[in-house]
Amino acid sequence: MRLHAQTLSSIGSLRGRLTLWFAGLAVLTLLCSGIYVARIAIATMTEAEGAALHASATTAANALATGLREREDEIYLLSQAPHFTKGNLRDIEVLHSLERRRYVHEEYAWLGVTNANGVVLHATGGLLVGQSMETRPWFKAALKGPYIGDVHDAVLLAKLLQGASDDPLRFVDFASPIINRAGQTLGVLGAHVHWRWVTDTVDAAVSGRDGLRSATILIVGRNGAILYPQHLAGGTLPSFASTVGKPHEIVRWPDGKDYLSSNVAVNANTRTDLGWRLVVRKPLELATQPVRDIQLKLTIIGLMTAVLFSFVAYRLATTVSRPIEQLAAAARQVELRSGTPDYPTGRPMREIAQLIHSIQSMTQSLLGKEHELESINSSLEATVDERTQALTRANAELERLAAQDGLTRLANRRKFDERITEAFLASRRSGRNFTLLVLDLDHFKNINDTHGHPVGDAVLRTLATLLTASVRITDFVARYGGEEFAILLTDTDGLQVSLSVAEKIRSSVAAADFPVVGNITVSIGLAASSATDEDPWQIVSRADAALYHAKAAGRNRVSASGDARPGASAHRESPDAP
Ligand code: GH3
Ligand code: MG
Ligand code: MG
Repeated sequence: MRLHAQTLSSIGSLRGRLTLWFAGLAVLTLLCSGIYVARIAIATMTEAEGAALHASATTAANALATGLREREDEIYLLSQAPHFTKGNLRDIEVLHSLERRRYVHEEYAWLGVTNANGVVLHATGGLLVGQSMETRPWFKAALKGPYIGDVHDAVLLAKLLQGASDDPLRFVDFASPIINRAGQTLGVLGAHVHWRWVTDTVDAAVSGRDGLRSATILIVGRNGAILYPQHLAGGTLPSFASTVGKPHEIVRWPDGKDYLSSNVAVNANTRTDLGWRLVVRKPLELATQPVRDIQLKLTIIGLMTAVLFSFVAYRLATTVSRPIEQLAAAARQVELRSGTPDYPTGRPMREIAQLIHSIQSMTQSLLGKEHELESINSSLEATVDERTQALTRANAELERLAAQDGLTRLANRRKFDERITEAFLASRRSGRNFTLLVLDLDHFKNINDTHGHPVGDAVLRTLATLLTASVRITDFVARYGGEEFAILLTDTDGLQVSLSVAEKIRSSVAAADFPVVGNITVSIGLAASSATDEDPWQIVSRADAALYHAKAAGRNRVSASGDARPGASAHRESPDAP
């Protein structure tokens, strides 16, 4: 599976594709040229083989024609010899000439002379002497003139001449009339020539010829019947497209196979035309065998060349693709920001070198821009941090200023409202009371009028400092407005303690020495929180009422609201009041 995936990915790579294309083209070219060469070679080979077959057939046909004519002439001339024609066919000289002939030409199986009635007078080996040949075709034909009879099985001589061979005894007959000077037919000279002589003549004519190995030579009779070789005898010749002008052709024979065949007439020019033909055939596959051998060699060479081509193509593809692959890896390194990219080295092709150079400088400028951007970013972040801190500080300052009184640096009215609300809610939860003191400068207007506003301001500032110093750290002092101040005393146990704290404040103010103006006094209204209060402003209004009472009672004194109910007038003044 992994191998498959690897193969697929290598096919997808530039290198794989280039290799496939190169190798594929090489194989295709070799295949096409191989097929073309093979076709031409087969055609040429077939032509050459066919010509060789035709030449063999012609040679064999000529040899056979010559042989047949010679035999015909021999018999004719013998029948015209003086000792034949002088009249006495029983002359022993006749027999001697027959025996001599047979002795010299072994192809003669039998030579004999009959009288005009067909009775054998002399014969080689004394065979058939005294028997009548009256019904034999050769005798009957020869009465009219010289005759050659087609091959036939031995009839009368079969038993007498059969030798060791199992082949049936077959003859070709030659016969000629014996006519005296007066034109009188005295008898017939007949001869049986062994069929073997015919076939040997044919075989000898072509034996040892090149290109005839695995070819078969056939003798075919007038009617197309195959006469030779024996194993094909009795079969018939397939139809040739043309027996004239076409020396050879590919013919399908009755056995279903294709043969390269040549068909030639045996033109013996004898007095009797036998109408024989000679056919030479060779299985087509054997005829073109050498081409197939070459084809096989070509295929092997082609395959080897294809492998070689593929290898060269792979090397070539590698040369082209390696720098591109290295460049791709370098680009990946840039993409992943994994260290310095390794650009291809060596001497790649001009276009690829150009590409590498371009990508290298592009990357450098890109990375430079990126660094620039990074540093701008980080300085921007620092600036934003700085500004945020400044803003936070400014906000805190604003917050502080929003809660502070500018002149005295005490908490302002807004802050006071917040704190008394918190104290009110906490007291509700805990059930523990707190106390509010409202403090007002006595006859302050006079100070302003007498000494001027700046002196009044200075008095207010000094008083603020004094008030802050007079209370506990947990207590809260605010400028309530104008020359009025408010003090929240938390965790006070009972009105008495609060009253004494208020009294302590009043007396320390009265005792203090203020710049320019000397002594000043303050009046203080005091109210304690109560469980029945619905909001903090009820406590404020009670303290206000107590302050009003203190002013009304003569100033420079502390007055406490003993009753939480609005409108109640039960106010207690501090016992130390002047
Ligand atoms: P009383 O004893 O009844 O309180 O008399 P008073 O003069 O103190 O009271 P009044 O309400 O008549 O006058 C208060 C004066 O306080 C009037 C105003 O000019 C002065 N004042 C208020 N705020 C400031 C301030 O911030 N600076 C100065 N210098 N004077 C202020
Ligand atoms: Mg006032
Ligand atoms: Mg006043």
